[in-house]
Amino acid sequence: MKILLLGKNGQVGWELQRSLAPLGELTALDRHSEPCGDLSRPERLADTVRALRPDVIVNAAAHTAVDKAESEVDLARTLNATAPAALAQAAAETGAWLVHYSSDYVFDGSGQQPWQEDDATGPLGVYGQTKLEGEQAIGTSGCKHLIFRTSWVYAARGGNFARTMLRLAQERERLTVIDDQRGAPTGADLIADVTAHAIRAALQQPALSGLYHLVASGETSWHGYASHAIACARESRPDLAWKVDEIARVPTSAFPTPAKRPLNSRLNTHKLQQAFGLTLPHWQRGVDRLLAEIL
Ligand code: NDP
Repeated sequence: MKILLLGKNGQVGWELQRSLAPLGELTALDRHSEPCGDLSRPERLADTVRALRPDVIVNAAAHTAVDKAESEVDLARTLNATAPAALAQAAAETGAWLVHYSSDYVFDGSGQQPWQEDDATGPLGVYGQTKLEGEQAIGTSGCKHLIFRTSWVYAARGGNFARTMLRLAQERERLTVIDDQRGAPTGADLIADVTAHAIRAALQQPALSGLYHLVASGETSWHGYASHAIACARESRPDLAWKVDEIARVPTSAFPTPAKRPLNSRLNTHKLQQAFGLTLPHWQRGVDRLLAEIL
């Protein structure tokens, strides 16, 4: 089986290089690669698919800078909607599967219930709007596809929220962390592993083609996430110079940003767990593992 991976060096892309490797012959590209893996050139991207004729295309690349997207509307739309549409078109022509990632930001963040796949969308900003357009283009293209909506992604590699909180906890006595946005921190490693399982299942059972929510189980706020990370880190590394003695809860309005954030980012994962026979672990297990790796 031939697999084409786009966005190989992002949080999810990096983990996919590991999880997809045993499934077949993997060609992993980034925006500088030859053949073209640049999402800002959708036509050339489609040529790459036509030339390589992969059985599965996995697109982990995207315009993920949520605030920057507000002022880079055209670029965000090209990367998040036009390029996935071109990939979907090429996938439909060549019979390939297209695996793609989307976001909790397609919803308006209202209510308290975990969102289901067919709930009404209502993006609050450019990033969410363009991610939604990407989903819709794939959905109407006729290609076999798996679209995974995820949220609050972290990875051991590179910067991440937990690492920032641990640094601040050693620099400041008081931290202020948002407490009115709720969701599930989800490891890029979990997303990549579930993707590999889902691809194997979908190749056997094409009726699995569709849209799924993929996040760790349980829920928390950014404040809960930070508090858990700092408490675990203090316990395992009492030797570090911890300064923090208060982690204050603040509303989203305490940190104004160009893009509005959804308050309710809870995603219901029942459909994915049922369809693929998978169990999504609690978010704390993934974060504990992350801490063990970075401390
Ligand atoms: P990252 O920002 O870590 O990775 C995105 C990748 O896209 C980077 O490697 C980046 O490359 C690449 N990229 C940017 N522009 C281009 C381009 N023109 N051509 C090719 N590649 C490009 O994102 P994640 O791994 O966290 O996200 C994976 C998916 O999950 C995305 O679809 C995202 O929308 C979705 N998602 C992410 C969430 C999160 O919290 N991060 C939450 C919900 C959904 P470079 O490094 O060169 O810039």
